[in-house]
Amino acid sequence: MQCSSSCCDFCGNAADLQQYPTVHGSVTWYACAECARIIATESWEQLIERSLAAYRDIRPITEGEEPILRNHVEQLVQAFRSFRPELRRNVSERRVLGARL
Ligand SMILES: [Zn+2]
Repeated sequence: MQCSSSCCDFCGNAADLQQYPTVHGSVTWYACAECARIIATESWEQLIERSLAAYRDIRPITEGEEPILRNHVEQLVQAFRSFRPELRRNVSERRVLGARL
């Protein structure tokens, strides 16, 4: 979501923002209370769906645009995860667990 720093990076909501500092000192992500709740449970698919729904609220998305926009939002969420040091650790821990199964 292209927005100033005063709204949620995922859905554009401007209320109850939480800050997420990243490994890049100058970059801070913002998430509203609902997106922060989703992030806390690491429900990334749900976060992607919520973000897509926010785009749909701005204007109708055509069938042709849907996969492009979804890809964009998936990359956004992927970037958020890779820039967050503790989330990245969780991801790699999960990989190790997955390798053992
Ligand atoms: Zn949000």
